[in-house]
Amino acid sequence: MTIKCSKRRCTNPAIIHQKYSGLHLCEAHFIEDVERKAKREIRKQWLIEHDDKIAVALSGGKDSSALLYMLKKFFQPRADLEFIAIAVDEGIKGFRSVTLKNAEHITKELEVELCTFYFEHELGFTVDEIVSRGFEQAPCTFCGVLRRKVIETKAKELGATKVVTAHNLDDEVQTILINYIRGDIERLGRLRGRRPQFVPRIKPLRKVPEKEVALYALIAGISISTVQCPYARLSFRFTVKRMLNEFEMRHPGTKYSLMRGYERLSQFLPTAQPGRELLRCERCGAPSASRICKACEIVERMRS
Ligand code: SF4
Ligand code: ZN
Repeated sequence: MTIKCSKRRCTNPAIIHQKYSGLHLCEAHFIEDVERKAKREIRKQWLIEHDDKIAVALSGGKDSSALLYMLKKFFQPRADLEFIAIAVDEGIKGFRSVTLKNAEHITKELEVELCTFYFEHELGFTVDEIVSRGFEQAPCTFCGVLRRKVIETKAKELGATKVVTAHNLDDEVQTILINYIRGDIERLGRLRGRRPQFVPRIKPLRKVPEKEVALYALIAGISISTVQCPYARLSFRFTVKRMLNEFEMRHPGTKYSLMRGYERLSQFLPTAQPGRELLRCERCGAPSASRICKACEIVERMRS
């Protein structure tokens, strides 16, 4: 028997059962639900302002591709807005080149300029080279810091007034939990804080579960590659991700309740340690919590 959409007066067949909300949704109501959550987040985090130049961090994966599609759909009538896509090639053999092909494809389709930057060129080394040095930490520790740095620097250089990233509910809750486990209160506080020294960042998908972003992308006809980064499994995040998915399966709603709990708690967290946020990195001049920023620290380690 076909299950019908739970929305009032809708007789369409459901395509998804949201266990956490108890709703069965048809295609149209599912799309509406995802887009409503994204719009609400944009309004809550930073408003899109007149003449904004919006840089979308695009990896070519399902999340960022769906995000770019959605943003173009939301803001199509706004002729004053300019969109650019920033892609970063970290130099991971057999992985990034595949997703970047997708990035090229979708930006062409949506008529958005794509600017690609390479670790090799920007920093002088690739993530594969970092791995070959056999450092103790997982590759993601380096990769994440450096990618953020490249995106921030390039967004500024390109004159972007907002940076939009495709972090979904799963990503956000993983980060929250990682910081809880590490007892990193300072970073927990920084997660929600607006930091005036950086180009304002918006995460429209932070309340949309990863699986729903994937379904949204599928319905939108966005081509998705299933190729995974070979280093992802080595990260602490991967363990946390598996654990969270297990919890969510047994106790639907876990991810949302962790997010809600964090949002209530975050009102009491310091967004920065007094005096520290004002530091500038001695090497690159970027705002930094310490004398030398994390990215420059990695660059120095690679050069030594
Ligand atoms: Fe970089 Fe880790 Fe992502 Fe791979 S999984 S691209 S190493 S952050
Ligand atoms: Zn620096």
